Amino acid sequence: MRKITVFLMFVVLLVSAPAFSGSEKTKKVVPLGKYDFYHYFTYDELTNYLQDMHKAYPHLTELNSLCKSQMGRDVWMFVINNPETGEPAEKPGFFLNQIHSSEVIASMSCNYTIWHLLANYGKDAEITEIVDGVVWYIVPRLDVDGAEAYLTGKPAGEDPNPVDSDGDFLFDEDPPEDIDGDGYIVQMRQKDPKGEMKISEKDPRNMVRKAKDETDGIYYKIYSEGIDNDSDGKINEDSFSMRFLSNRNYPGNWRPQIVQRGGGKYPMEESVTRAEVDFIANHPNIAIYVQHHCCGRVILRPPTTAPDKDFKYKGDLELYKVASARSLEHSGWDLATSVYDWNYPPDTPNKKSTQIYRDKEGKLKNVPEGMDPDSRFSEPSFEFGVGSEDGGCDSGYFAWGSSIETTYNLFGIFSLGDEHWNAPDYDKDGRVTTEERFKWNDEEMDGKLFVDWHPYEHPTLGPVEIGGWLRRKTSPPEGELIQKECEMGNNFLIYLAGLVPKIEVGETEVTDKKGGIYQLDIAVKNTGFLPTATEQARALKIGEPVLLEVMPDENLEIIYGDEKIKLGQIDGYSESSKTTYILRVKDPAKKAVLKVHVSSQKAGRTTKDIVISE
Ligand SMILES: [Zn+2]
Repeated sequence: MRKITVFLMFVVLLVSAPAFSGSEKTKKVVPLGKYDFYHYFTYDELTNYLQDMHKAYPHLTELNSLCKSQMGRDVWMFVINNPETGEPAEKPGFFLNQIHSSEVIASMSCNYTIWHLLANYGKDAEITEIVDGVVWYIVPRLDVDGAEAYLTGKPAGEDPNPVDSDGDFLFDEDPPEDIDGDGYIVQMRQKDPKGEMKISEKDPRNMVRKAKDETDGIYYKIYSEGIDNDSDGKINEDSFSMRFLSNRNYPGNWRPQIVQRGGGKYPMEESVTRAEVDFIANHPNIAIYVQHHCCGRVILRPPTTAPDKDFKYKGDLELYKVASARSLEHSGWDLATSVYDWNYPPDTPNKKSTQIYRDKEGKLKNVPEGMDPDSRFSEPSFEFGVGSEDGGCDSGYFAWGSSIETTYNLFGIFSLGDEHWNAPDYDKDGRVTTEERFKWNDEEMDGKLFVDWHPYEHPTLGPVEIGGWLRRKTSPPEGELIQKECEMGNNFLIYLAGLVPKIEVGETEVTDKKGGIYQLDIAVKNTGFLPTATEQARALKIGEPVLLEVMPDENLEIIYGDEKIKLGQIDGYSESSKTTYILRVKDPAKKAVLKVHVSSQKAGRTTKDIVISE
């Protein structure tokens, strides 16, 4: 059911959010004089930070345990809500979280947003409005066990489900270790004619694969740093777990492990994921869902397993495209894409018609119709249903069972993922090479992220060299760049929070029909960008319709019209058709007032007194 019509003006979209500027100097933020965003929080520091933020802002926050992790840690849920402006369930909800253990910068970004919202409440008008008008459910770290192992390089406790990686009936018996005692577990290289690797000609620190037909050179074998603990002739072949949660075990478009790595045996086999989805299912006020990731500086949207041309609901798709393009402006990031079209085929330049990307000059390309690509924060004048229909790859990157597929597909929530951080693409060719990572490490990280190769006498291998990248997979930055990246992620969240649907009493008209009889025509409007329910939610028939309730005072009688009317759903920036009431004023000498209450599951609620006669 769709009860809408009038399109309001397309103004007010987000002109006030702080624009990202790459050249701005980062001012070090130290919440409560104690914590900073120049380093990564271990679990204990995360816990202390959240407890202290709650203590500092008790009137605006709640700290709850979403559930226990596999190793018994609390998975924290930090709620920001102003009770003076209403109960959480009566407001549009913004659910923010972070999942992958090694993507610690994305977790810090959640912590930064908590600080930003609270520290600027009452000082910054925009922040005050989105704290008063929105309830924030923030889970800064879902995989608390995995992140702890990643950050400390040690098992994060007793693993309840250890894996026998090498099939010898022993579990986690041969992990890597810091054998030279320099504080880092990196790699070992050893000259070996049978080795597959050689030193790169471009940079002697970098090891590259030799060509297939190559025979005449110096070759190396590479190992992770450590010894053969179980004397089986293999080094570090069975380590402790560092990853407990995947982003493929969610129920949306789920596939088993054999089809989708990380899928597991059944959807929500992971108890933490299950608790998260359970929470979402029981909070139908959640209007926006964002899951932070790293890396790439990308805004990700559905679909995750199909091209855009098969996206069933074009109105939702258009909302996604506009919000994604704006999110790039606010974050300063480089690419907005469906998950399916992202980096596919592998090494793609990500310049498909369905993607919004920055060109070499930094201008956004493929922005939705009506958005001026030359001007940041230009007023959008899009209309739904326009935009490219030739939807991307025929075959793409499938992400079965992902978070945003679940929250959009099963619950109709407007859902985005993102990827924080990327090492600089100095030549702007759309990819970050190892040479560029070395340049970044040397020039901006003081060389801190790469341990130079140095000789070591290994107990079983003999002479080797130890060295390599500290965090090879995701290489998040250190120091000031952590906070800077958090700011970029936070900027687009602040923008997104301004998009929630917002229900208000619309145009009202009171006509005196004489003899104490009055006609009231009343509409309800949604002043937010997002609809009160997405097309997906409407198709699923989930979500309560917008409700209009009227309460006459004792001098007023309703002759025609129901006290409670279900209005269906209302699109963004739109108004419902008018509802008519016939009212009788009992004593014309006295004032008569009709109390009007409008409410929506995801768009809040409000009450207004309408004076029928003075
Ligand atoms: Zn991730």
